[in-house]
Amino acid sequence: MEYRNIGKTGKKAGVIGLGCEHLDRAPYDRVKETIDAALAGGINLLDVFMPGREVRENIARSLGSRRGDVMIQGHVGSTDIREQYDISRDMPTVRRYFEDLLGIFGGYVDFGMMFFIDSEEDYRGVFETPFADYLQTLKSRGSIGHIGFSSHNPEIAARVVKTGLPELMLFSINLAFDLLPAEVNVLDQLGSKIDANAFAGFDPKRAELYRLCESRGVGITVMKTLGAGKLLSPEHSPFSKPLTAAQCVHYALSRPAVASVLLGCQTAAEVENALRYFDSSEADRDYSDVLGTLRSDFRGHCVYCGHCQPCPVGIDIAAVNKYLDIARLDIANVPPSVRSHYASLSHRGSECVSCGNCEARCPFGVRVAAGMAEAARIFGS
Ligand code: SF4
Ligand code: SF4
Repeated sequence: MEYRNIGKTGKKAGVIGLGCEHLDRAPYDRVKETIDAALAGGINLLDVFMPGREVRENIARSLGSRRGDVMIQGHVGSTDIREQYDISRDMPTVRRYFEDLLGIFGGYVDFGMMFFIDSEEDYRGVFETPFADYLQTLKSRGSIGHIGFSSHNPEIAARVVKTGLPELMLFSINLAFDLLPAEVNVLDQLGSKIDANAFAGFDPKRAELYRLCESRGVGITVMKTLGAGKLLSPEHSPFSKPLTAAQCVHYALSRPAVASVLLGCQTAAEVENALRYFDSSEADRDYSDVLGTLRSDFRGHCVYCGHCQPCPVGIDIAAVNKYLDIARLDIANVPPSVRSHYASLSHRGSECVSCGNCEARCPFGVRVAAGMAEAARIFGS
């Protein structure tokens, strides 16, 4: 397992985590084998958004004395009032479901997530009611370590980040969603076929959201990495050919601020399969050829795919370009954390010898050498 910082929380997550949704209604033995496999593989972050008591208890019982070995994303406002997943902003209901979760997991979860803030109504329901205050109370009394939120909408999510309240964002990220205009409801796309005709190049609002998170030290955990499996399916893929799981995971992990990709597994075998990502080569993970088949215009914009490697002086070109893109948001006020991440790279833009090897390999016509020089100007050597 590889571990990454979760924003500025001081915590580190395995780059692959476990989304526990598919353990809902599973028998205890299956929950236990899945949790055991996850912990054996070094997974230390579980997403538990499900409101049902039985699945929460099965997970807690499976963890047993290992509760301290994992961090839990628990969701505030996730209910099942009508015996199906539901969102509530009604405070007595919200409190009842979340206190129940806290009780089951020993009185504390690492991340209290404001559940499902996708619309204007959701935003108002959280920030213009006592809902957000409740999260702050939970944090100040030590019931949660950090405040987070979940969303599928890049415009609303950016507004939430800009409130300064959350330290973590659970967001739906995959290559197909990132190509859809921000106005498209991605969850509708999962109900049918992902509409490739709607692809319009990398959506600038999504790209900016990820950079905003990086610049503010808000970590990102990822859901819908595989597009509910559609991206892997020859029948349902919106691309000319299906992606592999390694390409999907690598795509999400190469976005700015992403700490962990949460994969929904329901058996030990599925967990072990997910962890095979670490056996994949750089070539297995490279998703640039899929992008290259699209009519959309990516030219000139780095997509952090890594296809241009290796660099003879060892520069991680995608990483430099990522920090450069974040810095370009506001060159006069580059956050110290971004400067520090850039400074910690083994090789920096100033070392570029303009050999042009990377530019010959880049499928998207990125002027890499010029970017390296710009990075050197902004960040210094
Ligand atoms: S410069 Fe080109 S090949 Fe290299 S990471 Fe960026 S988009 Fe990919
Ligand atoms: S042009 Fe610069 S960044 Fe690209 S391969 Fe050559 S030295 Fe590396």
